Amino acid sequence: MSRTPGRNFFFHPGPTNIPDRVLAAMQRPTTDFMGAEFRALQGRCHDRLKGIFRTSQNLVVHVANGHGAWESAMVNTCAPGDHVLVPESGFFSVHWAKMCEALGLVVETVPCDWRQGMDIEKLADHLAADREGRVKAVCAVHNETSTGTMNDVAAVRAALDTAGHDALLMVDTISSLGSIDFRMDDWRVDVAVGGSQKGLMLPVGLSFTGVSEKALAARGNGHLPHQYWSWREYLPTEGRFIFPGTAPTQIFEAMDVALDLIENEGFDQVLARHQRLAGATRAAVTAWQTEGGLQFFAQRPPRRSDSVTAILMPEGHDAEAFRQACAEECNVSLGGGLGALHGRLFRIGHMGDLNEAMLLGALGVIEMQLARHDVPHNAGGIAAAVDYLTQH
Ligand SMILES: *Cc1c(COP(=O)(O)O)cnc(C)c1O
Repeated sequence: MSRTPGRNFFFHPGPTNIPDRVLAAMQRPTTDFMGAEFRALQGRCHDRLKGIFRTSQNLVVHVANGHGAWESAMVNTCAPGDHVLVPESGFFSVHWAKMCEALGLVVETVPCDWRQGMDIEKLADHLAADREGRVKAVCAVHNETSTGTMNDVAAVRAALDTAGHDALLMVDTISSLGSIDFRMDDWRVDVAVGGSQKGLMLPVGLSFTGVSEKALAARGNGHLPHQYWSWREYLPTEGRFIFPGTAPTQIFEAMDVALDLIENEGFDQVLARHQRLAGATRAAVTAWQTEGGLQFFAQRPPRRSDSVTAILMPEGHDAEAFRQACAEECNVSLGGGLGALHGRLFRIGHMGDLNEAMLLGALGVIEMQLARHDVPHNAGGIAAAVDYLTQH
């Protein structure tokens, strides 16, 4: 490891920085996971997490990463051979669809240009054409972390309502939960899938699934075989999570503190901070952008994500070599391109425990490395970001 001195500046769109107080909270001896103290602690987490989902319905936790919650969403609600509709928006929607196929579901897709984000009109047409109600669930990714695009969940709900379609609305909120406004109950989302290691500033290891009453009832119509993921079996009782087997006490100690930090800052303030840091990042990229040079990957400005910005390198410039130089020479770790986008883009994750000074540091290193690597760009990104932060 040829790291330079000083702190590593970690700018991945998940996992994210874990605040020192949250790390310290895990330095606790193992406690009795059946004891009163842990019951009270995880009960506090349960109630406050529901606030983050903005739901008064059910919240199930699994010892898993986000992929586990994807699986739990499908196996608890769908029967073998059911049709599900996946509006394609990028790498993560494609992988959720692949999982559905592997589980024995029939996947219908609404293709889209990854640089444009989810095509709501095509989705509405697809739903309107499904007169027999073949589609059991719509699986939509709120924030496409691979492309840096936010999709409009309220518009997906409106498309279902306009078509008079009864499908369950399932939303992947893994990289928006706690960083971008997400409203499970207002948008009548039936299944909301989240994870611990992104906006919640925790280690990987827990997934959360918001479950509406309608989604809970869907299981009555037969379902794919499962046990570990069972919502019925492990539905919280008396406001406390129920685990199959041992409960992960240390990560809950961490969550209690992470939720304190969010509460102390104010949840609305946390979301506003993400918007502001995203705005500064976009101001820098807008200044750098040139014809034939570096570009935003997401082409529609209103859809550019408030938790991650994806930057497309011009032809002939390797995003991986660029990323490696930022990490090895300057101790700034950026996200890479996923799947087919590997080597073509890099991503700035501006999610979780971040402030202005950290962001300006990372943007400064990027501007310097763009010059060192002769990547066609305009100078002045940092000045634009500082200007944005001064005015907002
Ligand atoms: C990170 C991410 C995932 C995958 O989460 P894991 O915890 O790695 O399984 C899925 N969807 C989105 C939108 C993500 O950002």
